[in-house]
Amino acid sequence: MTDSGHLGKLAVVTGATKGIGRAIAEKFAAGGFDLAFCARTAADVQAMEADLCRRFPGQRFLGRAADLSSCADVDGFARAVVEQGRAADVLVNNAGVFIPCPVADPAGRESFDLMMRTNVSSAYWLTQGLLPPMRAARRGHIFNLCSIASVTSYGGGYGVSKFALLGYSKNLREELKKDGIRVTAVLPGATLTPSWNGVNLPADRFVRASDVADAVWACYALSPQAVVEELLVRPQLGDIEI
Ligand code: NAP
Repeated sequence: MTDSGHLGKLAVVTGATKGIGRAIAEKFAAGGFDLAFCARTAADVQAMEADLCRRFPGQRFLGRAADLSSCADVDGFARAVVEQGRAADVLVNNAGVFIPCPVADPAGRESFDLMMRTNVSSAYWLTQGLLPPMRAARRGHIFNLCSIASVTSYGGGYGVSKFALLGYSKNLREELKKDGIRVTAVLPGATLTPSWNGVNLPADRFVRASDVADAVWACYALSPQAVVEELLVRPQLGDIEI
């Protein structure tokens, strides 16, 4: 972690180099947080770490290349964070992939398995890795990036993974209620990020990634005695057909 001697609040964001994760990471950095973050592409991670250090010189930033579809990589990232000797104040389980995958077609089995590991298991593994110090500190806020595909049929196997992530969030919320740790499931509708590259629609048809980040920040800013359990944000003109 790049060190400038300061020890502030810590936010951990997965899949942070692009899209919604990037917007949330930037929002918390601008709010004075130190950050630990990851994505698969090492060059993007390094560039983001350098950019944050330049823009927020009083804060600490730890970027790691990690493929969160791999339990070993998730455990390695969790260890690197825990070794900083501090509890995460905010954990954003954002990393996720969308692969077209009709559930009735056996040709989609590999994609289905990859989405279950990246979109669901990574949050389950990483949260377990980071929880002991959070529980000891009796504070923290966990955000899981679900989707409108968590509540309506959308995207086949992707939708199954997002339903599962919402189910995970609900169970985690119950388990952590008495530990002072808040859990929020974030359910964005179509949000303009690189994952929509190649789709030819006007930008104003989408939610902005910064809208999701602003809404996440607003949930975090509530008093510790209140939790937004589900945050659903849709484009004003409604869902986009895929
Ligand atoms: P995105 O633009 O494709 O960005 C994904 C980010 O996650 C990138 O930084 C990517 O970097 C990283 N990533 C992808 N796979 C990873 C892996 N296996 N391990 C570690 N990092 C990984 O995605 P997005 O649209 O912002 O979506 C972010 C989250 O919001 C996802 O969970 C998505 O399902 C959810 N969501 C998105 C929308 C939408 O319309 N955009 C709507 C609802 C929910 P690398 O490629 O370098 O790894």
